[in-house]
Amino acid sequence: MRAKNLLKLAKDPRFIPGIYNYCDRWCERCPFTSRCLVYAQEQQDKNDPAANDITNEAFWKKLGAIFEQTKEMLYEAAKERGIDLDAIDYAEAEKQERQLDEEIENHELARAASAYADMVDEWFETEKHIFSEKQEELNTMLQLEIGGRQPQKVAASIGDAFEVIQWYQHQIYVKLKRALLPDEFELLDDDGKPFPKDSDGSAKVALIAMDRSIAAWGTLREHFPEKTDGILDLLVHLDRLRRKTEQYFPDARSFVRPGFDTIQQQKAKAK
Ligand code: SF4
Repeated sequence: MRAKNLLKLAKDPRFIPGIYNYCDRWCERCPFTSRCLVYAQEQQDKNDPAANDITNEAFWKKLGAIFEQTKEMLYEAAKERGIDLDAIDYAEAEKQERQLDEEIENHELARAASAYADMVDEWFETEKHIFSEKQEELNTMLQLEIGGRQPQKVAASIGDAFEVIQWYQHQIYVKLKRALLPDEFELLDDDGKPFPKDSDGSAKVALIAMDRSIAAWGTLREHFPEKTDGILDLLVHLDRLRRKTEQYFPDARSFVRPGFDTIQQQKAKAK
């Protein structure tokens, strides 16, 4: 997308500022696509082959030219401000980054979230046959015209639960890792009160992903009651992770996400 078009789009009052910062990026299921700048931008890019086509020579050439301009601008700005770019201790910075990464990966929340993602893979690998069996059973019901529209409803419900679990399976880990990153600095509003922390926003997105995954596992348990034991193991693990996350980020649930929570608040006030 051309910068001019993007600026024009960004000024459109129908977009909710920052709504995409604390969403789950599941645009197909998002109730705010018409109010999201990122979504509008992506839609425009889809219709613009030059912007979308990663093999487009002009695109990469342009990017190369921007890189050169940016480099020049950076060197000049550094010179003006007396910053010696070569003086930066990259080895030390890298070491610190690696250390932080290791600490986060070893954090109990990150480890539990990663274990959950593995448990999900394992469960679907072991139990994949139940889905084809169920499909056969539902097809038979349809052919024999048993249960009216019930077989379609059951199939849709299983499909939805499966999609929800898969969508959030790894996202819980990713969002928790982001939440565990130290907040760089505390921003204050005009009254001197601190703005909500980005870590709480990320933790909230992870918590919502856990809530929805728990509900989806509950749906699968209803359709496959014979698999209750295995599903219960997953549910227990996920619920413990949910509780631990709430303890670790006590303000996460009350974090107000632009759009998703503000619109709810407006609706509640209007009632
Ligand atoms: S806010 Fe909704 S439409 Fe925008 S990026 Fe997030 S999920 Fe997609």
